[in-house]
Amino acid sequence: MGRMRIGVIGGGAAGMTAAIAAAGEGAAVTLLEGGERVGKKILSTGNGKCNLGNLELSADAYYGADREWIADCLARFGSEDTIRFFRGMGLLVKERNGLLYPLAEQASVVLDALRWELRAMGVETVLECRVDAVRRNAEKGFKVSAGQRDFEFDRVILACGSKAAPKTGSDGSGYLLAESLGHAVVLVMPALVQLRCREAWLREVSGVRAEAEIRELSGESGVIEERGELQLTDYGISGIPVFQMSRRINALLRKRGKGSEAELSVNLLPDYSAEEFGRLCAGRRLLQADRTAEEFFTGILNKKLMLLFMKLSGIRRDTPISQVESGRIDQVFGLCRDWRLHVTGSNSYDNAQVCAGGVDTAQVGRNMESLLVPGLFFAGEILDVDGRCGGYNLQWAWCSGHLAGRAAGRRPES
Ligand SMILES: Cc1cc2nc3c(=O)[nH]c(=O)nc-3n(C[C@H](O)[C@H](O)[C@H](O)COP(=O)(O)OP(=O)(O)OC[C@H]3O[C@@H](n4cnc5c(N)ncnc54)[C@H](O)[C@@H]3O)c2cc1C
Repeated sequence: MGRMRIGVIGGGAAGMTAAIAAAGEGAAVTLLEGGERVGKKILSTGNGKCNLGNLELSADAYYGADREWIADCLARFGSEDTIRFFRGMGLLVKERNGLLYPLAEQASVVLDALRWELRAMGVETVLECRVDAVRRNAEKGFKVSAGQRDFEFDRVILACGSKAAPKTGSDGSGYLLAESLGHAVVLVMPALVQLRCREAWLREVSGVRAEAEIRELSGESGVIEERGELQLTDYGISGIPVFQMSRRINALLRKRGKGSEAELSVNLLPDYSAEEFGRLCAGRRLLQADRTAEEFFTGILNKKLMLLFMKLSGIRRDTPISQVESGRIDQVFGLCRDWRLHVTGSNSYDNAQVCAGGVDTAQVGRNMESLLVPGLFFAGEILDVDGRCGGYNLQWAWCSGHLAGRAAGRRPES
Protein backbone atom coordinates (compact mmCIF):
# COMPACT_ATOMS: atom_id res chain seq x y z
CA MET A 1 0.00 0.00 0.00
CA GLY A 2 1.27 3.51 -0.84
CA ARG A 3 1.39 6.36 1.61
CA MET A 4 -1.74 8.29 2.48
CA ARG A 5 -1.91 11.48 0.43
CA ILE A 6 -2.99 14.38 2.62
CA GLY A 7 -3.85 17.82 1.29
CA VAL A 8 -3.76 20.62 3.85
CA ILE A 9 -5.50 23.78 2.63
CA GLY A 10 -4.13 26.91 4.32
CA GLY A 11 -0.59 27.41 5.57
CA GLY A 12 -1.30 29.30 8.80
CA ALA A 13 -0.52 28.19 12.34
CA ALA A 14 -3.12 25.40 12.24
CA GLY A 15 -2.35 24.19 8.71
CA MET A 16 1.40 24.02 9.28
CA THR A 17 0.90 22.11 12.53
CA ALA A 18 -1.54 19.73 10.86
CA ALA A 19 0.92 19.14 8.00
CA ILE A 20 3.78 18.41 10.42
CA ALA A 21 1.61 16.04 12.47
CA ALA A 22 0.29 14.19 9.41
CA ALA A 23 3.81 13.80 8.02
CA GLY A 24 4.83 12.47 11.43
CA GLU A 25 2.33 9.66 10.88
CA GLY A 26 4.12 8.75 7.65
CA ALA A 27 1.70 10.39 5.20
CA ALA A 28 2.70 12.20 2.02
CA VAL A 29 1.59 15.75 2.80
CA THR A 30 1.03 18.69 0.47
CA LEU A 31 0.34 22.11 1.97
CA LEU A 32 -1.55 24.46 -0.33
CA GLU A 33 -1.20 28.12 0.65
CA GLY A 34 -2.98 30.94 -1.16
CA GLY A 35 -0.41 33.60 -0.25
CA GLU A 36 3.15 34.11 -1.37
CA ARG A 37 4.40 32.78 1.96
CA VAL A 38 3.18 30.60 4.81
CA GLY A 39 2.34 31.81 8.31
CA LYS A 40 1.99 35.49 7.54
CA LYS A 41 -0.43 36.08 10.41
CA ILE A 42 1.97 34.59 12.95
CA LEU A 43 4.36 37.47 12.29
CA SER A 44 1.89 40.04 13.63
CA THR A 45 0.87 38.09 16.73
CA GLY A 46 1.58 39.37 20.23
CA ASN A 47 2.88 42.68 18.86
CA GLY A 48 5.55 40.79 16.95
CA LYS A 49 6.49 38.67 19.98
CA CYS A 50 3.95 35.86 19.45
CA ASN A 51 2.05 34.96 22.58
CA LEU A 52 1.86 31.31 21.58
CA GLY A 53 -0.01 29.80 24.50
CA ASN A 54 -1.09 30.09 28.11
CA LEU A 55 -0.37 27.91 31.11
CA GLU A 56 -3.81 28.65 32.51
CA LEU A 57 -5.60 26.68 29.87
CA SER A 58 -9.27 25.91 30.22
CA ALA A 59 -12.33 25.83 27.99
CA ASP A 60 -13.58 28.87 29.95
CA ALA A 61 -11.11 30.96 27.97
CA TYR A 62 -12.95 30.06 24.77
CA TYR A 63 -16.24 30.88 23.14
CA GLY A 64 -18.00 28.71 20.62
CA ALA A 65 -20.99 26.52 20.40
CA ASP A 66 -19.72 23.65 22.52
CA ARG A 67 -17.38 24.20 25.48
CA GLU A 68 -17.36 20.50 26.36
CA TRP A 69 -16.12 19.64 22.90
CA ILE A 70 -13.43 22.31 23.22
CA ALA A 71 -12.42 21.04 26.68
CA ASP A 72 -12.06 17.51 25.35
CA CYS A 73 -9.78 18.70 22.53
CA LEU A 74 -7.62 20.78 24.88
CA ALA A 75 -7.28 17.82 27.23
CA ARG A 76 -5.58 15.92 24.41
CA PHE A 77 -3.20 18.71 23.40
CA GLY A 78 -2.61 21.30 26.10
CA SER A 79 0.00 23.88 27.05
CA GLU A 80 2.65 21.31 27.98
CA ASP A 81 2.18 19.67 24.59
CA THR A 82 2.64 23.06 22.94
CA ILE A 83 5.90 23.63 24.82
CA ARG A 84 7.09 20.12 23.89
CA PHE A 85 6.04 20.60 20.25
CA PHE A 86 8.19 23.72 19.94
CA ARG A 87 11.05 22.40 22.01
CA GLY A 88 11.16 19.45 19.61
CA MET A 89 11.86 21.95 16.83
CA GLY A 90 14.59 23.64 18.83
CA LEU A 91 12.48 26.63 19.90
CA LEU A 92 12.77 27.62 23.54
CA VAL A 93 9.60 28.87 25.18
CA LYS A 94 9.31 31.13 28.21
CA GLU A 95 6.46 32.07 30.48
CA ARG A 96 5.44 35.52 31.72
CA ASN A 97 2.46 35.71 34.10
CA GLY A 98 1.26 32.42 32.65
CA LEU A 99 1.53 33.61 29.04
CA LEU A 100 3.88 31.66 26.76
CA TYR A 101 6.29 33.36 24.38
CA PRO A 102 9.32 32.25 22.41
CA LEU A 103 12.37 32.96 24.56
CA ALA A 104 13.70 35.03 21.68
CA GLU A 105 10.52 37.20 21.88
CA GLN A 106 10.32 37.17 18.09
CA ALA A 107 7.33 35.87 16.19
CA SER A 108 9.55 35.38 13.15
CA VAL A 109 11.56 32.76 15.06
CA VAL A 110 8.36 30.76 15.66
CA LEU A 111 7.58 30.90 11.98
CA ASP A 112 11.14 29.89 11.05
CA ALA A 113 10.92 26.86 13.35
CA LEU A 114 7.65 25.77 11.75
CA ARG A 115 8.87 26.34 8.20
CA TRP A 116 12.03 24.37 8.77
CA GLU A 117 10.11 21.58 10.46
CA LEU A 118 7.81 21.37 7.42
CA ARG A 119 10.88 20.94 5.24
CA ALA A 120 12.50 18.44 7.60
CA MET A 121 9.31 16.36 7.63
CA GLY A 122 9.20 16.33 3.82
CA VAL A 123 5.99 18.35 3.48
CA GLU A 124 5.58 19.72 -0.02
CA THR A 125 4.51 23.35 0.20
CA VAL A 126 2.77 24.95 -2.78
CA LEU A 127 2.56 28.74 -2.54
CA GLU A 128 0.24 31.13 -4.38
CA CYS A 129 -2.24 28.33 -4.63
CA ARG A 130 -5.67 29.63 -3.60
CA VAL A 131 -8.04 26.69 -3.51
CA ASP A 132 -11.46 27.44 -4.98
CA ALA A 133 -13.08 24.00 -4.92
CA VAL A 134 -12.89 20.76 -2.97
CA ARG A 135 -14.92 17.87 -4.37
CA ARG A 136 -15.34 14.30 -3.24
CA ASN A 137 -14.36 11.75 -5.83
CA ALA A 138 -16.99 9.18 -6.74
CA GLU A 139 -14.90 6.30 -5.36
CA LYS A 140 -12.84 7.75 -2.59
CA GLY A 141 -10.64 10.72 -1.91
CA PHE A 142 -10.88 14.33 -2.97
CA LYS A 143 -10.18 16.52 -5.96
CA VAL A 144 -8.90 19.96 -4.98
CA SER A 145 -8.81 22.79 -7.52
CA ALA A 146 -6.90 26.05 -7.42
CA GLY A 147 -7.48 27.98 -10.63
CA GLN A 148 -6.12 25.80 -13.42
CA ARG A 149 -4.36 23.43 -11.06
CA ASP A 150 -5.92 20.19 -9.78
CA PHE A 151 -4.72 17.93 -6.98
CA GLU A 152 -5.85 14.48 -5.82
CA PHE A 153 -5.76 13.55 -2.13
CA ASP A 154 -7.01 10.69 0.02
CA ARG A 155 -7.84 13.11 2.80
CA VAL A 156 -8.14 16.85 3.10
CA ILE A 157 -7.64 19.16 6.07
CA LEU A 158 -9.34 22.56 5.79
CA ALA A 159 -7.26 25.12 7.74
CA CYS A 160 -8.11 28.33 5.92
CA GLY A 161 -8.59 30.50 9.01
CA SER A 162 -11.42 32.98 9.38
CA LYS A 163 -12.11 36.44 7.92
CA ALA A 164 -10.00 38.28 10.47
CA ALA A 165 -7.02 40.29 9.21
CA PRO A 166 -7.65 39.38 5.55
CA LYS A 167 -4.36 41.03 4.59
CA THR A 168 -2.70 37.93 5.99
CA GLY A 169 -4.63 35.70 3.57
CA SER A 170 -7.68 34.62 5.57
CA ASP A 171 -10.46 35.92 3.36
CA GLY A 172 -13.29 33.66 4.53
CA SER A 173 -13.02 31.37 1.50
CA GLY A 174 -12.63 28.38 3.83
CA TYR A 175 -16.20 28.83 5.05
CA LEU A 176 -17.44 28.58 1.46
CA LEU A 177 -15.41 25.42 0.88
CA ALA A 178 -16.86 23.89 4.07
CA GLU A 179 -20.39 24.88 3.04
CA SER A 180 -19.89 23.40 -0.43
CA LEU A 181 -19.20 20.08 1.31
CA GLY A 182 -22.45 20.30 3.29
CA HIS A 183 -21.17 21.86 6.52
CA ALA A 184 -23.10 24.48 8.46
CA VAL A 185 -21.24 27.66 9.39
CA VAL A 186 -22.24 29.49 12.59
CA LEU A 187 -22.68 33.25 12.06
CA VAL A 188 -19.25 34.87 11.72
CA MET A 189 -18.48 38.22 13.44
CA PRO A 190 -15.30 40.13 14.27
CA ALA A 191 -13.96 39.36 17.76
CA LEU A 192 -10.95 40.72 19.68
CA VAL A 193 -11.52 44.06 18.03
CA GLN A 194 -11.86 47.76 18.91
CA LEU A 195 -15.33 49.14 19.68
CA ARG A 196 -16.80 52.24 18.08
CA CYS A 197 -18.75 54.70 20.22
CA ARG A 198 -21.41 57.33 19.53
CA GLU A 199 -19.63 60.03 21.59
CA ALA A 200 -17.88 62.40 19.16
CA TRP A 201 -16.02 64.13 22.01
CA LEU A 202 -13.86 61.03 22.44
CA ARG A 203 -11.63 62.72 19.86
CA GLU A 204 -10.50 65.11 22.60
CA VAL A 205 -9.02 62.26 24.65
CA SER A 206 -7.72 60.16 21.77
CA GLY A 207 -4.40 58.55 22.70
CA VAL A 208 -5.06 58.50 26.46
CA ARG A 209 -4.52 55.16 28.20
CA ALA A 210 -5.84 54.40 31.68
CA GLU A 211 -6.46 51.43 33.93
CA ALA A 212 -10.21 50.87 34.01
CA GLU A 213 -13.02 48.53 34.83
CA ILE A 214 -15.60 48.41 32.05
CA ARG A 215 -19.09 47.02 32.46
CA GLU A 216 -21.99 46.58 30.06
CA LEU A 217 -25.03 47.95 31.84
CA SER A 218 -28.06 46.03 30.60
CA GLY A 219 -26.88 42.62 31.78
CA GLU A 220 -29.06 41.23 28.99
CA SER A 221 -26.39 38.73 27.90
CA GLY A 222 -25.11 38.01 31.39
CA VAL A 223 -22.30 39.93 33.06
CA ILE A 224 -19.93 41.50 30.53
CA GLU A 225 -17.17 43.09 32.59
CA GLU A 226 -13.43 43.46 32.07
CA ARG A 227 -10.54 45.23 33.71
CA GLY A 228 -7.26 46.35 32.19
CA GLU A 229 -5.64 49.16 30.26
CA LEU A 230 -8.28 51.09 28.34
CA GLN A 231 -7.07 52.96 25.25
CA LEU A 232 -9.12 55.85 23.96
CA THR A 233 -9.24 56.55 20.24
CA ASP A 234 -10.93 59.16 18.10
CA TYR A 235 -13.72 56.74 17.17
CA GLY A 236 -14.11 54.74 20.39
CA ILE A 237 -12.24 52.42 22.71
CA SER A 238 -9.47 49.85 22.41
CA GLY A 239 -7.04 47.91 24.59
CA ILE A 240 -7.07 44.41 26.03
CA PRO A 241 -10.24 44.75 28.19
CA VAL A 242 -12.12 46.12 25.18
CA PHE A 243 -10.85 43.29 22.96
CA GLN A 244 -11.92 40.78 25.59
CA MET A 245 -15.48 42.09 25.70
CA SER A 246 -15.86 42.89 21.99
CA ARG A 247 -17.15 39.49 20.97
CA ARG A 248 -19.99 39.53 23.45
CA ILE A 249 -20.84 43.18 22.74
CA ASN A 250 -20.96 42.47 19.00
CA ALA A 251 -23.27 39.50 19.67
CA LEU A 252 -25.49 41.68 21.88
CA LEU A 253 -25.74 44.39 19.20
CA ARG A 254 -26.53 41.76 16.58
CA LYS A 255 -29.29 40.37 18.80
CA ARG A 256 -30.77 43.83 19.39
CA GLY A 257 -30.79 44.65 15.69
CA LYS A 258 -29.59 47.33 13.33
CA GLY A 259 -28.90 50.76 14.78
CA SER A 260 -28.80 49.50 18.36
CA GLU A 261 -26.30 50.52 21.02
CA ALA A 262 -24.74 48.99 24.10
CA GLU A 263 -24.24 51.23 27.12
CA LEU A 264 -20.99 50.85 29.03
CA SER A 265 -19.97 52.20 32.40
CA VAL A 266 -16.25 52.92 32.72
CA ASN A 267 -14.73 53.14 36.18
CA LEU A 268 -11.40 54.91 35.93
CA LEU A 269 -10.68 54.47 39.64
CA PRO A 270 -11.17 50.73 40.04
CA ASP A 271 -8.83 50.54 43.04
CA TYR A 272 -10.91 52.98 45.10
CA SER A 273 -14.15 51.99 46.80
CA ALA A 274 -17.03 54.46 46.58
CA GLU A 275 -16.42 55.40 50.24
CA GLU A 276 -12.70 55.95 49.80
CA PHE A 277 -13.26 58.12 46.78
CA GLY A 278 -16.04 59.99 48.57
CA ARG A 279 -13.62 60.83 51.41
CA LEU A 280 -11.00 61.92 48.91
CA CYS A 281 -13.46 64.26 47.19
CA ALA A 282 -14.61 65.74 50.48
CA GLY A 283 -11.00 66.37 51.51
CA ARG A 284 -10.27 68.07 48.23
CA ARG A 285 -13.23 70.38 48.71
CA LEU A 286 -11.94 71.41 52.11
CA LEU A 287 -8.29 71.84 51.27
CA GLN A 288 -8.36 73.18 47.74
CA ALA A 289 -11.23 75.66 47.93
CA ASP A 290 -9.03 78.55 46.78
CA ARG A 291 -8.13 77.03 43.42
CA THR A 292 -9.37 77.45 39.89
CA ALA A 293 -11.46 74.58 38.55
CA GLU A 294 -8.56 73.32 36.46
CA GLU A 295 -6.22 73.34 39.46
CA PHE A 296 -8.86 71.76 41.68
CA PHE A 297 -9.38 68.74 39.43
CA THR A 298 -5.76 68.24 38.40
CA GLY A 299 -4.03 65.15 39.72
CA ILE A 300 -6.91 62.71 39.87
CA LEU A 301 -6.78 61.25 36.37
CA ASN A 302 -5.02 61.99 33.11
CA LYS A 303 -5.35 65.73 32.55
CA LYS A 304 -7.08 65.41 29.18
CA LEU A 305 -9.76 63.26 30.80
CA MET A 306 -10.30 65.70 33.66
CA LEU A 307 -10.61 68.60 31.21
CA LEU A 308 -13.15 66.62 29.20
CA PHE A 309 -15.15 65.74 32.31
CA MET A 310 -15.13 69.41 33.33
CA LYS A 311 -16.38 70.38 29.91
CA LEU A 312 -19.12 67.72 29.98
CA SER A 313 -20.19 69.10 33.36
CA GLY A 314 -20.29 72.68 32.11
CA ILE A 315 -17.28 73.93 34.10
CA ARG A 316 -14.80 76.42 32.66
CA ARG A 317 -11.15 75.80 33.52
CA ASP A 318 -10.43 79.27 34.90
CA THR A 319 -13.54 79.64 37.08
CA PRO A 320 -12.67 79.71 40.81
CA ILE A 321 -13.91 76.41 42.22
CA SER A 322 -15.70 78.31 45.00
CA GLN A 323 -18.00 79.73 42.32
CA VAL A 324 -18.82 76.38 40.70
CA GLU A 325 -22.15 74.84 41.61
CA SER A 326 -21.68 71.88 43.93
CA GLY A 327 -23.75 69.62 41.67
CA ARG A 328 -21.36 70.21 38.79
CA ILE A 329 -18.36 69.29 40.94
CA ASP A 330 -20.16 66.09 41.96
CA GLN A 331 -20.81 65.38 38.30
CA VAL A 332 -17.09 65.47 37.50
CA PHE A 333 -16.30 63.23 40.45
CA GLY A 334 -19.09 60.90 39.34
CA LEU A 335 -17.70 60.62 35.82
CA CYS A 336 -14.40 59.35 37.24
CA ARG A 337 -16.16 56.24 38.53
CA ASP A 338 -19.09 55.92 36.15
CA TRP A 339 -18.33 57.31 32.72
CA ARG A 340 -20.99 56.26 30.23
CA LEU A 341 -20.11 55.37 26.65
CA HIS A 342 -22.45 54.07 23.97
CA VAL A 343 -21.09 51.41 21.62
CA THR A 344 -22.57 51.45 18.14
CA GLY A 345 -20.48 48.62 16.67
CA SER A 346 -16.95 47.39 16.23
CA ASN A 347 -14.17 47.92 13.75
CA SER A 348 -14.24 45.60 10.76
CA TYR A 349 -12.54 42.28 10.06
CA ASP A 350 -9.50 44.27 8.87
CA ASN A 351 -8.75 45.18 12.50
CA ALA A 352 -10.02 42.04 14.23
CA GLN A 353 -7.58 39.52 15.65
CA VAL A 354 -10.02 36.63 15.35
CA CYS A 355 -13.60 35.85 14.38
CA ALA A 356 -16.48 34.49 16.39
CA GLY A 357 -18.41 31.72 14.64
CA GLY A 358 -17.26 29.33 11.94
CA VAL A 359 -17.74 25.68 11.01
CA ASP A 360 -20.28 24.18 13.40
CA THR A 361 -18.47 21.82 15.77
CA ALA A 362 -21.64 19.73 16.18
CA GLN A 363 -20.76 18.28 12.78
CA VAL A 364 -17.11 17.64 13.61
CA GLY A 365 -15.76 14.69 15.60
CA ARG A 366 -13.27 14.95 18.42
CA ASN A 367 -10.39 14.05 16.14
CA MET A 368 -11.43 16.97 13.89
CA GLU A 369 -12.91 14.73 11.21
CA SER A 370 -16.16 15.76 9.59
CA LEU A 371 -19.14 13.71 10.74
CA LEU A 372 -20.70 14.30 7.32
CA VAL A 373 -17.80 13.71 4.93
CA PRO A 374 -15.35 10.96 5.93
CA GLY A 375 -11.78 11.94 5.15
CA LEU A 376 -12.44 15.67 5.55
CA PHE A 377 -10.83 17.34 8.59
CA PHE A 378 -10.77 20.85 10.04
CA ALA A 379 -8.16 22.76 12.03
CA GLY A 380 -7.81 26.23 13.51
CA GLU A 381 -9.95 29.30 13.45
CA ILE A 382 -12.15 28.06 10.61
CA LEU A 383 -14.01 26.18 13.35
CA ASP A 384 -16.56 27.81 15.65
CA VAL A 385 -13.96 28.27 18.40
CA ASP A 386 -12.44 31.59 19.43
CA GLY A 387 -10.41 32.35 22.50
CA ARG A 388 -9.74 35.33 24.70
CA CYS A 389 -6.55 37.38 24.37
CA GLY A 390 -3.61 35.65 26.03
CA GLY A 391 -2.31 33.00 23.63
CA TYR A 392 -5.52 31.00 23.54
CA ASN A 393 -6.12 31.33 19.81
CA LEU A 394 -2.69 30.09 18.80
CA GLN A 395 -3.05 27.31 21.39
CA TRP A 396 -6.23 26.32 19.59
CA ALA A 397 -4.40 26.35 16.24
CA TRP A 398 -1.62 24.05 17.56
CA CYS A 399 -4.12 21.81 19.37
CA SER A 400 -6.64 21.37 16.58
CA GLY A 401 -3.88 21.21 13.95
CA HIS A 402 -2.20 18.45 15.85
CA LEU A 403 -5.36 16.42 16.41
CA ALA A 404 -6.43 16.80 12.76
CA GLY A 405 -2.99 16.02 11.34
CA ARG A 406 -2.47 12.97 13.49
CA ALA A 407 -5.89 11.50 12.74
CA ALA A 408 -5.76 12.30 9.04
CA GLY A 409 -2.22 10.99 8.60
CA ARG A 410 -2.98 7.68 10.24
CA ARG A 411 -3.94 4.80 7.97
CA PRO A 412 -7.44 3.50 8.57
CA GLU A 413 -7.28 0.12 10.30
CA SER A 414 -8.29 -2.54 7.81
C1 LIG B 1 -2.78 41.22 14.79
C2 LIG B 1 -3.03 39.86 15.39
C3 LIG B 1 -2.41 39.51 16.59
C4 LIG B 1 -2.67 38.27 17.16
N1 LIG B 1 -1.99 37.93 18.30
C5 LIG B 1 -2.19 36.69 18.85
C6 LIG B 1 -1.43 36.27 19.96
O1 LIG B 1 -0.50 36.94 20.43
N2 LIG B 1 -1.72 35.06 20.51
C7 LIG B 1 -2.70 34.24 20.01
O2 LIG B 1 -2.93 33.16 20.55
N3 LIG B 1 -3.41 34.60 18.91
C8 LIG B 1 -3.17 35.79 18.30
N4 LIG B 1 -3.86 36.14 17.17
C9 LIG B 1 -4.82 35.16 16.60
C10 LIG B 1 -4.08 34.03 15.88
O3 LIG B 1 -3.06 34.60 15.10
C11 LIG B 1 -5.02 33.24 14.98
O4 LIG B 1 -6.11 32.75 15.73
C12 LIG B 1 -4.32 32.04 14.34
O5 LIG B 1 -3.17 32.47 13.64
C13 LIG B 1 -5.25 31.30 13.39
O6 LIG B 1 -4.54 30.31 12.72
P1 LIG B 1 -5.18 29.56 11.48
O7 LIG B 1 -4.08 28.72 10.93
O8 LIG B 1 -6.45 28.91 11.85
O9 LIG B 1 -5.55 30.71 10.45
P2 LIG B 1 -4.60 31.76 9.67
O10 LIG B 1 -3.39 32.05 10.45
O11 LIG B 1 -5.46 32.87 9.26
O12 LIG B 1 -4.12 30.94 8.41
C14 LIG B 1 -4.98 30.60 7.34
C15 LIG B 1 -4.14 30.45 6.10
O13 LIG B 1 -4.94 29.88 5.08
C16 LIG B 1 -4.69 30.54 3.86
N5 LIG B 1 -5.90 30.39 3.04
C17 LIG B 1 -7.13 30.91 3.28
N6 LIG B 1 -7.99 30.52 2.33
C18 LIG B 1 -7.30 29.75 1.48
C19 LIG B 1 -7.64 29.06 0.28
N7 LIG B 1 -8.89 29.09 -0.21
N8 LIG B 1 -6.66 28.36 -0.36
C20 LIG B 1 -5.38 28.33 0.12
N9 LIG B 1 -5.00 28.96 1.24
C21 LIG B 1 -5.95 29.67 1.91
C22 LIG B 1 -4.37 31.96 4.25
O14 LIG B 1 -3.60 32.60 3.25
C23 LIG B 1 -3.61 31.76 5.55
O15 LIG B 1 -2.22 31.64 5.35
C24 LIG B 1 -3.60 37.37 16.54
C25 LIG B 1 -4.21 37.72 15.35
C26 LIG B 1 -3.92 38.95 14.75
C27 LIG B 1 -4.58 39.29 13.44
